[in-house]
Amino acid sequence: MKAAVCKEPGKPLEFEDINLRKLEDDEVLIKVHYCGICHSDIHIIDGHWADRVNYPVIPGHEVVGIVVDKGKRVRNIDIGDRVGVPWIYSSCGICDYCLEGEEQFCPEYKITGISVPGGYAEYMISKGDFTTKIPKGLRMEEAAPLFCAGLTVYSALKRVNLRPGEKVAVHSIGGLGHLAVQYAKGMGAEVFAISSTKEKESLVKELGADVFVWEGDDVVDILKSFGGMDVIITTSFISSSIEKLIKCLAPRGRLTFVGNAPEPIKIYPREILGKRLVITGSAVGNRKLLRETLEYAVKWNIRPKVEIYPFDKINECLDKVRRGKANMRIVLDISFSTL
Ligand SMILES: [Zn+2]
Ligand SMILES: [Zn+2]
Repeated sequence: MKAAVCKEPGKPLEFEDINLRKLEDDEVLIKVHYCGICHSDIHIIDGHWADRVNYPVIPGHEVVGIVVDKGKRVRNIDIGDRVGVPWIYSSCGICDYCLEGEEQFCPEYKITGISVPGGYAEYMISKGDFTTKIPKGLRMEEAAPLFCAGLTVYSALKRVNLRPGEKVAVHSIGGLGHLAVQYAKGMGAEVFAISSTKEKESLVKELGADVFVWEGDDVVDILKSFGGMDVIITTSFISSSIEKLIKCLAPRGRLTFVGNAPEPIKIYPREILGKRLVITGSAVGNRKLLRETLEYAVKWNIRPKVEIYPFDKINECLDKVRRGKANMRIVLDISFSTL
């Protein structure tokens, strides 16, 4: 099979012929149809996380496709099922974190496309127990970004206990933010979408946002004029713009980070203690939350905005994501690969 391989950090991916190994009894073989590009893939390929990555590696952790073979101990998945594989490839299943459904903290967990080959390939082997079926009503290319971006924002909103009727601000509207708007709306919140791009107003309104707030000099005053936010979910990479937003939280407000802003953030204890704020962050989520992410996408009619490109354009697509030029989410079509 053909796969796009990151041989060493900082170099473009190279297409290679790779022999598939034999399946273990607890594994499934997936014919990959689509794989989304996540910003983490750039960190992997550019070598920012070199200490964690087993080069050469096949990246890709928003993998969807059809099961074409399975080991004899796989019970939850059948040949022909439409499935996907997320960031968490497997975990030990017996540590305290695993027992509590927090497998992302398992000391032995493996990551798709980092510790084991991922989805930038015509086929991928996954663990049956960590493979999730795609519900009816969701197209595969729309399901792909939900396996990382969708799961990350849904799980973050659940972890801060967003309740119906609360005011939530979604800060920065891109791959993660445009999904956060939709999930927050589905959860019954009043949604404020904050963006520095005025042209995004019609998009966020179409996605269900109640109020569009342009991120100009008066963003703090505008949000305060609504009585402050109960929850802010920020996908931004700009630390100074996140700092400002802490002032917009209502008493008992919660701020959650889902973007990997590289600069530190200055926080004054008096701001936190006076209003008893909670500042937290979240990444990916467990398999139960992944199931909910997919099921609610169907129920609440949540659809990622995707641009689809053929597999052989992978390096151009990665470069678009690297330069922040992707329009919401890029998904690679691997199903009719002609490589
Ligand atoms: Zn990701
Ligand atoms: Zn574990």
